[in-house]
Amino acid sequence: MRDNFNRQIDYLRLSITDRCNLRCRYCMPAQGVPLKAQNEILRLEELVTLAQAALKAGIRKIRLTGGEPLVRRNVVSLVRSLHALTGLEEISLTTNGILLPALATPLKEAGLVRVNVSLDTLKPERYAYITRGGNLHEVWRGLRAALAAGLEPVKVNVVVMRGFNEDEILDFARLAVEQPLHVRFIEVMPIGMAAAARLDYVPVAEIRARVEAFYPLQPAPGVKGNGPAVNFTFRDGRGSIGFIGAMSEHFCPRCNRLRLTADGRLRPCLYGDEEIDLRGPLRRGASLEELVALFRQGILCKPQRHHLESEGRRQGLMSQIGG
Ligand code: SAM
Ligand code: SF4
Repeated sequence: MRDNFNRQIDYLRLSITDRCNLRCRYCMPAQGVPLKAQNEILRLEELVTLAQAALKAGIRKIRLTGGEPLVRRNVVSLVRSLHALTGLEEISLTTNGILLPALATPLKEAGLVRVNVSLDTLKPERYAYITRGGNLHEVWRGLRAALAAGLEPVKVNVVVMRGFNEDEILDFARLAVEQPLHVRFIEVMPIGMAAAARLDYVPVAEIRARVEAFYPLQPAPGVKGNGPAVNFTFRDGRGSIGFIGAMSEHFCPRCNRLRLTADGRLRPCLYGDEEIDLRGPLRRGASLEELVALFRQGILCKPQRHHLESEGRRQGLMSQIGG
């Protein structure tokens, strides 16, 4: 379905938990965030019903996120149930990768098509620092497991922060040359803890210039994805590279998505305050048609664009909204 600005909205980011096994400094406070009570979080059947309504409202692709989606028990059965829904073209997942070694194959068998693994540094000490205790070797094992399971493509999301990991841009580019991995550089956004920590983004134009000084890039419009990344391949590379200019480039005109928080609030825009409660109506016995109408309402109230660069920082945490 098209929104008021003629954008085709066919992609839903479904947060399935607000919990996480890491505490990335730009995403969560050290002590974690106050978690929702168990009965506030959507149950598996509720997630499936809402996904069904979303599909009837024109959604075609669903990405599971969180928090860390793989800490949710029964994530494999959830994927299996979603996969069985008519009209769903693709299920993907964004994860920190820590739990992928055990889950990659069962998820693939349940119908998961592809994964994005978040990894901001290739240095073990830095990884432990930025995630407050994460073990980089577990992420490597997770990436290998995803490739071995045949999840395709496997993307690596790199949030670039001025003064923290900008010196690793070429290392990540080399990773995409040598491995069948699709590296996506993302500008850190002033949301949640990144706002509090006043982390600065590195404009994607600058990242790209640094990569191109060493590796000639070729446009790769064909790399599978849903969103705002601009993608390139290397002449003799196995993977690809992409740039997501969340701050410096206006991808709002190409925005194709809705978000649903783990406790059932529909968010038309990551950066806006607008939300529509779906859990209340669902638990009060709303019909599928009524839920479809709420999704349509969500699509129609998508704003034209965000004003992050002029408004500055935003409250609200990515782990709670569903990154
Ligand atoms: N836990 C999973 C993970 O880390 O991939 C999924 C949820 S996480 C909130 C989703 C993505 O949001 C991650 O790639 C993370 O790096 C990114 N993210 C979190 N805070 C961000 C910020 N302030 N700016 C840009 N990206 C951010
Ligand atoms: Fe957890 Fe993902 Fe946020 Fe890191 S970015 S704290 S892994 S939810």
